[in-house]
Amino acid sequence: LLHQQELRESNARSYPRRIPLALNKAEGIHVTDVDGNQYMDCLAGAGTLALGHNHSVVIEAVEKVLKDQTPLHTLDLTTPVKEAFVNELFASLPDGFRERAKVQFCGPTGGDGIEAALKLVKTATGRQSILTFHGGYHGSTHGTMSVSGNLEPKKNVQGLMPDTHFLPYPYTYRCPFGKGGEESHLLSSAYIEHMLDDPESGILPPAAMIFETVQGEGGSIPAPIEWLKEMRRITKERGIPLIIDEVQTGIGRTGKMFSFEHAGIVPDVFVLSKAIGGSLPLSVVVYDKDLDAWEPGAHIGTFRGNQLAMAAGTASLKYIKEQRLDQHAKKMGELFIEELTPLKEEFSVIGDVRGRGLMLGVEVVDPAFSPSPSGSLPANPELATRIQSECIKRGLILEVGGRHGAVIRLLPPLIITEKQVKEVAAIFRSAVTASIK
Ligand code: PMP
Repeated sequence: LLHQQELRESNARSYPRRIPLALNKAEGIHVTDVDGNQYMDCLAGAGTLALGHNHSVVIEAVEKVLKDQTPLHTLDLTTPVKEAFVNELFASLPDGFRERAKVQFCGPTGGDGIEAALKLVKTATGRQSILTFHGGYHGSTHGTMSVSGNLEPKKNVQGLMPDTHFLPYPYTYRCPFGKGGEESHLLSSAYIEHMLDDPESGILPPAAMIFETVQGEGGSIPAPIEWLKEMRRITKERGIPLIIDEVQTGIGRTGKMFSFEHAGIVPDVFVLSKAIGGSLPLSVVVYDKDLDAWEPGAHIGTFRGNQLAMAAGTASLKYIKEQRLDQHAKKMGELFIEELTPLKEEFSVIGDVRGRGLMLGVEVVDPAFSPSPSGSLPANPELATRIQSECIKRGLILEVGGRHGAVIRLLPPLIITEKQVKEVAAIFRSAVTASIK
């Protein structure tokens, strides 16, 4: 099966190279391959499967749509299924914002939601430049690649959006200002404010600032809460719409329904995908109605009314709220940090352990070099890949990512139990031990 895939599938395929498995069955946090081997899935559809695989509330919701003769494809016409989804989504929005909010249904991917958000702010402001951040990831289309930090996939694609300005993200382990620690984020916000106010910086009045509150693909990097507040203040004072990309962080993953709630801020626009469809493809843009300068048809697309995804999304949102899975994610995230942090003392190759809720990262480094002025050691992508393989051998699926390909990323389903967290941490520890032998 795997060999056939290699021959027939495009060379651009990504996950199957690092995780060479053919999966057959799945339930909860577990997946089983075609040979019957079981794995704990801490990648979970890159953070999509909030309730794990095949949760009964999702299955029942989807079965109901299939049995009820619901029209399966309605473009974006209204149906009771859509109405229920919008009601549930609006009930989840922060008080005060709910009354000002509008929602735009987008194509099935997070990337399409981000495209729509970029078009919205350009239309509303009549401006074109976008402020974005080193290490950010927003998708794989032309527009979303333009505002993503990673140069590698861009190198063979000419003609991306001009006027994107990249600003330093508060990556406290690798502080771009040469000084480590929590305070480094103050240097980032002071620098950003200076850039915006200096006419010689070459930054045109921006249509928006966009970022993730925890960079996901960039290496599970949580921005300090103070920095998030600063970005809201800076953008508000200068009349710059703020877009928060909640594609990966949204729907309870970081310990709050929406990750910006940790900072007590509300953006002007935010984008949801991944978990919002209860594991099925869906994305939406939620925005302040003051920005609604769109003409009818300004953002269209055939697959914007997926009834199955909306039904699964409604059921999953309800369940997350009823079971307080956001709070559970916070607790389980803290337990992970507690379990994994001692590895920094034990193994000189573990440089950093960090996360917010169940969006966690372990940065693998090379202790043969001396530390940078910020106290970090060079990234060790080869070892990170080896640790990932050793984890897979021991029945644990996780991802390697980050700017230098050296951050082991854990994005388990929100339903992970205390016992499972400890099991994952124990497997991880044994994989690190085996990898450095
Ligand atoms: N934004 C963020 C923060 C993401 O993590 C991703 C996907 N990893 C995207 C956007 C793009 O979503 P999609 O792959 O569904 O286009």
